[in-house]
Amino acid sequence: MEDAIIVGAGPIGLACAISAKRRGGDPLVLDAGAITNSIVHYPIGMHFFTTPERLEIGGHPLTCAGPKATREEALKYYRGVVRTEGIRTRTFARLLTAGREADGIRCTVGTRLGEETLWCRTLVLATGYFDHPNRLGVEGEDRPHVRHYFDEGHLGYGLDVVVVGGKNSAVEAALQLYRAGARVTLVHRGPAFSRSVKYWLRPDIENRIAAGEIGARFGGTVQRIDADAVVIGTADGGEQALPADLVYVLIGFHPDFALLERIGIHCDPDSGRPTIDPETLETNVAGVYLAGSATAGRSISEIFIENGRFDGEKIFGSAADRARVDQQYTSIRRPRGE
Ligand SMILES: Cc1cc2nc3c(=O)[nH]c(=O)nc-3n(C[C@H](O)[C@H](O)[C@H](O)COP(=O)(O)OP(=O)(O)OC[C@H]3O[C@@H](n4cnc5c(N)ncnc54)[C@H](O)[C@@H]3O)c2cc1C
Repeated sequence: MEDAIIVGAGPIGLACAISAKRRGGDPLVLDAGAITNSIVHYPIGMHFFTTPERLEIGGHPLTCAGPKATREEALKYYRGVVRTEGIRTRTFARLLTAGREADGIRCTVGTRLGEETLWCRTLVLATGYFDHPNRLGVEGEDRPHVRHYFDEGHLGYGLDVVVVGGKNSAVEAALQLYRAGARVTLVHRGPAFSRSVKYWLRPDIENRIAAGEIGARFGGTVQRIDADAVVIGTADGGEQALPADLVYVLIGFHPDFALLERIGIHCDPDSGRPTIDPETLETNVAGVYLAGSATAGRSISEIFIENGRFDGEKIFGSAADRARVDQQYTSIRRPRGE
C-alpha cells in the first residue's frame, strides 16, 4: 500500500511529488513513457515560449544557454530534479484503470511484462493530454505516411508535404519543413491563423505564403487522405487533391476522457471539464485528485507548466499553503494569451 501514487512524470506530476516529499511523503510516480514524456515528443531543438524561471519546479534553478530553454535543456533539467529530489519513478508503466475499494485505491498498471496491481491511499492523475492527439476522423487518416506529431523538418526534404492545422504547431512545422526543402501546403479549416500564433512566427509564415513559398488553403476541410494526396473540399462544393508524400495532422490534443470515465470521474459533456474541488483538486472519487493540464478538459491551453506547477501544494499542502498558492494563481492561473 503506497501512501500516494502520482500518475504522470510530466512537470506537474514531478512538482506534485516534490510537494508530497517536502511533507514527509515518498510517493511513487508512474509514467506511460519516459520522464517528461510530453517534452520528449516536442519538435527537436524547440524553444519554450515561457521564460526559464517559470518552468522551474521545487525551487531548482533552470539554467540555459539562451534567453529561453530548449527541449533538450528542459529534459536535462527535469531529469536532474528527479535525481536530486530522489523521486521514486517507474517509467513505461501505464495506468489502465483505478477504483476505490474498502482498503484503498486499486490501480491496474500495464507494463511490457503484463498487468499488475498497485494499491494506494491517494491517487493523483497528472496525465496531461499530449498522448491523445485530436483526429480529423476521415478515411485514410491511419495511413503510414500520416503523422500526428511533428519532430523535425529534415524528413520532408524533396517531398510534397501537407500540414493540417492553424495554430502554433502547424505553423512551426510548415516553416521548418519548408526550410528543410519540402514543398509545403498548409490546410486550415478557419479563415485565418489562430490569434494565439507566436508573435515571431506570424510574419514569417505570412510572408512565406505571400511569396508563394508555402501554399495555404484557408477554409479547406479535409475529405480524405489518399496514398499520394490529401483531398480537400473547396468553397464551390468541389474537391481538390493536394499532392502529399507526407501528411502532418496537427490539430490539438485532448485528455484521456476514457481513463477518467473508467475511474468514475465525471466530466462535463461539452467542455470536458472534470468535477474537481477547486481548493484541493480532489475529484468526485474520494482520494483521487487531478493536477496540471488534465484539470482543464478540452481547454488545453488554459493550464500549462508555469501556472500548473503549484497544484501539488493544493493537493498535499495545508489550508494556509492553499491560500498562499491561490494568491499566486489569481495572477498566474489564467488562460494563455490574456
Ligand atoms: C510544442 C509544445 C510547446 C509547449 N511550450 C510550452 C511553454 O513554453 N511553456 C509552458 O508552460 N507550456 C508549454 N507547453 C505545454 C506544456 O507542455 C504542458 O502544459 C505541460 O507539459 C503540462 O504538464 P503536465 O505535467 O500537466 O502534463 P504532461 O507534461 O503532458 O505530462 C503528462 C504525463 O503523463 C503521462 N501519462 C499520460 N497518461 C498516462 C497513464 N495512463 N499512465 C501513466 N502515465 C500517463 C504522459 O506520458 C506524460 O509524461 C507546450 C506544449 C507543446 C506541445
